[in-house]
Parts: sequence; structure tokens; C-alpha cells
Amino acid sequence: LIAEREAMKSSELMLEIGGILRNFKFSFRGTGYDEKLVREVEGLEASGSIFICTLCDATRLEASQNLVFHSITRSHTENLQRYETWRANPYHESADELRDRVKGVSAKPFIETLPSIDALHCDIGNAAEFYKIFQLEIGEVYKNPNATKEERKKWSTILDKHLRKKMNLKPIMRMNGNFARKLMTKETVEAVCELLHSEERKVALKELMDLYLNMKPVWRSSCPAKECPELLCQYSYHSQRFAELLSTKFKFRYEGKITNYFHKTLAHVPEIIERDGSIGAWASEGNESGNKLFRRFRKMNARQSKV
Ligand SMILES: [Zn+2]
Repeated sequence: LIAEREAMKSSELMLEIGGILRNFKFSFRGTGYDEKLVREVEGLEASGSIFICTLCDATRLEASQNLVFHSITRSHTENLQRYETWRANPYHESADELRDRVKGVSAKPFIETLPSIDALHCDIGNAAEFYKIFQLEIGEVYKNPNATKEERKKWSTILDKHLRKKMNLKPIMRMNGNFARKLMTKETVEAVCELLHSEERKVALKELMDLYLNMKPVWRSSCPAKECPELLCQYSYHSQRFAELLSTKFKFRYEGKITNYFHKTLAHVPEIIERDGSIGAWASEGNESGNKLFRRFRKMNARQSKV
């Protein structure tokens, strides 16, 4: 019994199977941390910060000028050190200098997270951006960037109506996993292209989606090396081409800026796959379906109300 308890402390389980004592070692891993939660528990500034990433020190500007080449440098230990620096200001710097020194750490980190990406929130973040791109293409923002609020509202209505008719996608207030899955397809981009006039823009938009769909399985698979080895090999090629498109055909949106999840998708996926073997295996769908169960159990134990 004592041996068993000692083993449990190091996440080991001793089991007698068929008369033979066997040892199992478990590795526990916190999953389903979306960017917002990571920033909160690791003491980083909120998602709108110029320090765009929870994995590296890039600023939004740096990340937009170099879309692909960044390595993971942040860690919980370093966040703790930076918090100490931020608190003590040992070099008596101004607020701006200090903020730059600690790269946006502004609260005490209190939970250690593994520097990674949550596949579900990656899909949701990227789909929200594509949805926006679709609207901007309808409005031909590449040639007339100064549209009024009313015009932008109109493009959004046109897109929603069309997606409803062609793709059976009902408009939503906030991007979610199911909508993202249906939006990020060849069929959807084909449907959106029906609303565009310029042949060149249609080609660019379709290529952008095509590249995205070639990258997505890599962060979605439980084991990309087995499930999609070719796409894994081609990832850097696809991400570089995607980056090139953003900085040329879609320059009107990505000059000097980039979304948090586009940055993570383009810059950090291969390194994480190399380290952990997967991103998708720990996607937060599991946690979210847990929420559903939790609500059901809570309801079962609650007193019946009149409604
Ligand atoms: Zn980064």
C-alpha cells in the first residue's frame, strides 16, 4: 500500500495484471486553454496588446512584417521573472521602456501552461477572420478602402443572405466551431465568389482558402505524421505562400497588422508538432462537451422550478 501511494505521487499506477505487477506512468496535461485564458493565467496583457503572441515576443508590427519565421520563446518561468522585473523596475525605466523590457507581462502568472495552440480556438479565430475577408471582398475594399459604416453593414447583410441561401448557414452573433467548420470549405468560397466581379480576386480568394484547407489538418490531426504526412511536409511551403498572398493581394488589410491566430497558424504550428507530435489531440472540443454534461448533471440535481 505504501509503495502504491509513493508511486501515485509521481503519477505512476501499479496494477497487478494476470499475476504480474505492472507499472503505468501517466503524464497529465492541461488542455483547452484559449488565448484569452492563457493570457489571464500567465499574466500577459489582453489579446488586443501589441505583444501579439503567447508563444513569442513578437509585436503585431514585427509579426506582420515577418509572417512565418518565429520560434517559441515564452515560458512560465520567464513570465514569472518578467513579472518580478515589472514589479521592481530595477533599471528605473519609464513605463514604456519597462513594458518593452518585460514584453507585456503585467500581472503575476499563477498557472503554468504549456506554450501551445488550442486547435478549436485556432479554427474559430481564423474563421472569424475569413468571414471578415469575405465581406471586404464583396465591398471591393482592395480598390476603395474608404467605405462608410453603412456600406460595410450592407456587405455583411449580402454575405449573410447568400451564405444562408447557398450553404444553409444561418447568421450568428459570435463565431463558433460548427459555423467555422462549414465556413472554411471549398464550397463556401465558391459560393462567395459568385458575389465577386473580378476574376483576379476570385482566384486569390480561392487560393487563400485552398492553402488554409491544406494547412488545417496539420493542427487538427491527433497524429499528423501518420494521418497526413504529405501535408505536414508541405506545411512550411503552404504557410509561406499564404503569407505571400496576405502581403500582396490582401495588403490592404495586413499591412503592418495581423490577427493573433493567423500569426500562430503561420509561425508556430510546425515547431509544436515537432515537439508534441500533435496539436489536435488536445483540442478543447472535449472540454466543451464536458460543459454540456455539467449543465445536464446540474439540472438533474436541482429542485424542479415551475418553468
Ligand atoms: Zn508568436
